[in-house]
Amino acid sequence: MSFAALGLNRDLLYALEKQFYTTPYPIQSEAIPLILAGKDVLGIAQTGSGKTASYVLPSLQLLQNKPLAQNRYINTLVLVPTRELAIQVQKVYKSFSDKLEQPIKTLAVYGGASINPQMMDMNKVEVLVATPGRLLELVEKKAVFLSAVDVLVLDEADKMLNLGFKEEMTKVMSLLPIKRQNLLFSATLSADLSSIKDVLLNNPVTVEIEVETDNIDLINQVAYAVEEELKGPLLRCLIKQHQMEQVLVFTSSVHKADMVTDKLNANGIKALAMHSKKSQGAREQALLKFKNGVVQVLVATDLMGRGIDIPFLPYVINYELPRSPKDYIHRIGRTGRAKQAGTAISLITVEEAHHFSVIQKKMKKRVELFTSDEFKLF
Ligand code: AMP
Repeated sequence: MSFAALGLNRDLLYALEKQFYTTPYPIQSEAIPLILAGKDVLGIAQTGSGKTASYVLPSLQLLQNKPLAQNRYINTLVLVPTRELAIQVQKVYKSFSDKLEQPIKTLAVYGGASINPQMMDMNKVEVLVATPGRLLELVEKKAVFLSAVDVLVLDEADKMLNLGFKEEMTKVMSLLPIKRQNLLFSATLSADLSSIKDVLLNNPVTVEIEVETDNIDLINQVAYAVEEELKGPLLRCLIKQHQMEQVLVFTSSVHKADMVTDKLNANGIKALAMHSKKSQGAREQALLKFKNGVVQVLVATDLMGRGIDIPFLPYVINYELPRSPKDYIHRIGRTGRAKQAGTAISLITVEEAHHFSVIQKKMKKRVELFTSDEFKLF
């Protein structure tokens, strides 16, 4: 299957070539023709599956065929839960749009940064990537109008609908025209998402791309049984024993992420936390330092973990298990990519053991559980 066969025009095919995209990923093969045909789409796909380009490419093409809207009346609105994702998505838009014969202006707006430059940049924007709160502030200041939006994208839709964005989302929806194309993308199909799907989408086509079992098989998964208070010492032992130079550690709460980070640093292992309570600057810095190898460990919560766009991570450690098996698969899917073997290690207390067996059942793969006796944790 080629990109040309999906219905993309020559201008976009040229942009793809310049980006060295030769073959569509499965989510792209499925979603692009549907979006070009004007359908509402619910895409279930993980970060790393190529889901961003699966809506960026067709939405750019749809825009090329439309007359330019009045200034500040944006046409395509992409809502995302975090600043990191806003920046990342806009980058993808820009990377393609810049190579078009007539580039399409895109902008990312998000909270935690000064609003004035964002207001000034709004001139002639056609695609706006926004977090809901900042979007509403801009609407209030009449920097942007939503009544001409005809394509709405919700990326990481499950997280957005779970995270107390509900009020803001309802407000944004009330400002949009009723007739529009809706595209929802999510890594998991949660109960919340199923209900919103019924309200939001008009006769939608669901496209679900499972994590490739191929990929799961590539990942070397192990687990250690450990008491809660020994998780910290075990984490440090594992990092040292495996000489891990780049490891992403997941915790389930902001508080735990900070605690784990502090303990690692106190023990001479350079670590930074990345979670929603950190300022945008701090998050960007943390990610950059992790990517550049300045810090060895990044401790993230699930939400922040999604914005981490690193093609291959040798190690992922689940300091705590996520609630949903899909999130577990999503976490460990950050290793074992591009046909390289990675390792995912989970630290399991007695209380977590049952939940871990549920995850294994869902994943259809057994993970060997070792005792942590071999480590001197005291
Ligand atoms: P995403 O899931 O959208 O975050 O994309 C994951 C990574 O895959 C990004 O670095 C993209 O640049 C890359 N990517 C997406 N689609 C393709 C493709 N068809 N060919 C090559 N790389 C791709």
